[in-house]
Amino acid sequence: MRNLAVVGAGVMGRGIAYVGALAGFNVYLQDINEAALDKAKNDIEQEMSKSVQRGYLQQQQVEEALPRIFYTTNLEKASREADLVIEAVLEVMDIKIDVFKKLDQICPPHTVLATNTSTMSPTEIAAQTSRPDKCVAMHFFNPVHKMKLIEIIRGLDTSDETVELAKQVGSRMGKETVEVNEFPGFVTSRMNCLIGNEAMNMLMEGVASAEDIDKAMKLGLNHPMGPLELADLVGLDTRLRNMEYLYQTLGEKYRPCPLLVKYVKAGRLGRKSGRGFYNYENRQDQ
Ligand code: NAD
Repeated sequence: MRNLAVVGAGVMGRGIAYVGALAGFNVYLQDINEAALDKAKNDIEQEMSKSVQRGYLQQQQVEEALPRIFYTTNLEKASREADLVIEAVLEVMDIKIDVFKKLDQICPPHTVLATNTSTMSPTEIAAQTSRPDKCVAMHFFNPVHKMKLIEIIRGLDTSDETVELAKQVGSRMGKETVEVNEFPGFVTSRMNCLIGNEAMNMLMEGVASAEDIDKAMKLGLNHPMGPLELADLVGLDTRLRNMEYLYQTLGEKYRPCPLLVKYVKAGRLGRKSGRGFYNYENRQDQ
């Protein structure tokens, strides 16, 4: 395993490229949007330099890792020599299937195709390729360089070898893995979306302020982050797509909170747009 392609250079794709390069892989980061690639390059360089200043990385590791990342809008160039591709495009089934169909045509037969979906069925995506045994979900967490877990989701036809490769790559990236059989939302998103949605419903009902809901969960229930600040970090558009999928597949319990729908309509997408449940416009840590 030498060459890793990452498709989609948003919040997650750039984080996966970051840990992939530090793990010693050649990383080809692809996006259809040139501006997303420029932002990804800038963010990866800034984040690595912050990690050196804070003592988490050595300067030499950064100097070795950065030249291993190649940025491109060309999917063929990014994936034709890949041993593993991790797809991190929008949480929209049709877009993911379109990407997987193209990858299936471009990549050599040995290439494993992984999706970083938070909720959706790797079986459904894999069924559109000629290699369902080599398809799997590798669910990373945000921010990727800090979060220890990768949830590995086995689709109906995923082979043991594919799961093993996903685990080994995770381990080279310094991550722990858990293996989950496919079900909408897996373990983490199913639980987390429900908690977040309940917090949004409480805010909408006027039960408490956003600050006090988050403070209650952190200090009373020992959550490291409040559910509303976490939703802002994830991106409210992404969270809404996650909720819509869980609502379709698991039912009423997962109906997206109307306040979330309203915020997304208004363009309040959380940290990435400068405003969500909190205002980040003048914050240094944005
Ligand atoms: P994002 O909106 O930040 O980035 C998505 C990127 O995909 C954009 O840069 C967009 O230009 C690009 N893109 C869209 N269509 C494409 C295509 N056909 N080919 C190449 N690039 C394309 O989204 P994100 O938050 O990084 O989420 C990506 C995936 O990761 C989703 O499936 C999401 O559910 C999952 N995920 C997100 C989080 C999170 O906290 N944000 C956590 C775990 C998993």
